[in-house]
Amino acid sequence: MSMQSSVEGLVEGKVGLVFGVAHKSSLAWAIAQSLHDSGMRLAITYQSERQERNARKLVDELEGGGSVLLLPCDVTSDEQIDDVFSRVKDEMGRLDTLVHSVAFANREDLMGGFSETSRDGFLVSQEISAFSLVALARRAVPLFEEAGGGSIITLTYLGGERVIRNYNMMGVSKASLEMCVRYLAAELGEKNIRVNAISAGPVKTLSARGVSGFTDILGFMQETAPLRRNIDGSEVGATALYLSSGLSSGMTGEVLHVDAGYHILGY
Ligand code: NAP
Repeated sequence: MSMQSSVEGLVEGKVGLVFGVAHKSSLAWAIAQSLHDSGMRLAITYQSERQERNARKLVDELEGGGSVLLLPCDVTSDEQIDDVFSRVKDEMGRLDTLVHSVAFANREDLMGGFSETSRDGFLVSQEISAFSLVALARRAVPLFEEAGGGSIITLTYLGGERVIRNYNMMGVSKASLEMCVRYLAAELGEKNIRVNAISAGPVKTLSARGVSGFTDILGFMQETAPLRRNIDGSEVGATALYLSSGLSSGMTGEVLHVDAGYHILGY
């Protein structure tokens, strides 16, 4: 199912920086398309050489994709993060939207008993999935200030609020990420910088396939969610567009569920 996810001119003249495009199924890619198609100039980061080829291929398919700035960034490297923001400053001159669509947990920490989580597995997941939002936000602030404010958007999942089988370490990292959203929103609001999260329902992406039993979750959602279906990445893209635009100007520190309503259920 593909939904309308762009509104011509809604974010015309604005600049967005998107972290987390790995594949055409990436939620970050759905967001990038929606922002681009609505007039935003984009910079997109990729982590590895393999992802660079993917990202380049995807961007080339966009109308006017030649204007998209592609930059390498492993969010565990302060040096690479610094380079990204200085390139955006030099080449795009401003920043209005920062999209953080990055997460990681070791495969063995996405199955079995949570009490088996290793020290290293715990720390690496928190660093890449939660601390990275803080690291990116800090560098974005001066650029946002030049633009008179900005919007930070991250991606979370219901497993950060409630226990979901096998989500384990990622659930703990998402709880941490959602709290980072609130602390950042409280601090940065006076600079007109808004910080919100989209809590997406399950979508078949490379990361999601790493969660043991993921296909069963998709089937269960289809049967039980109020809308009786799974969501499409384009619906996450549309919500990110809303959060990037003036239409959401009164909203910060929020977690918006784009999950066909599943989160309201107690069964
Ligand atoms: P995805 O396409 O695999 O995206 C995850 C991204 O994180 C990839 O681009 C990955 O890059 C990147 N990443 C991991 N470690 C990194 C690092 N050290 N530095 C920079 N980037 C790194 O999967 P996705 O499902 O779209 O995930 C995007 C976000 O949505 C995640 O926060 C995820 O938890 C969240 N989310 C997903 C779902 C779902 O069902 N799909 C539901 C709710 C929330 P590499 O591939 O190069 O490692």
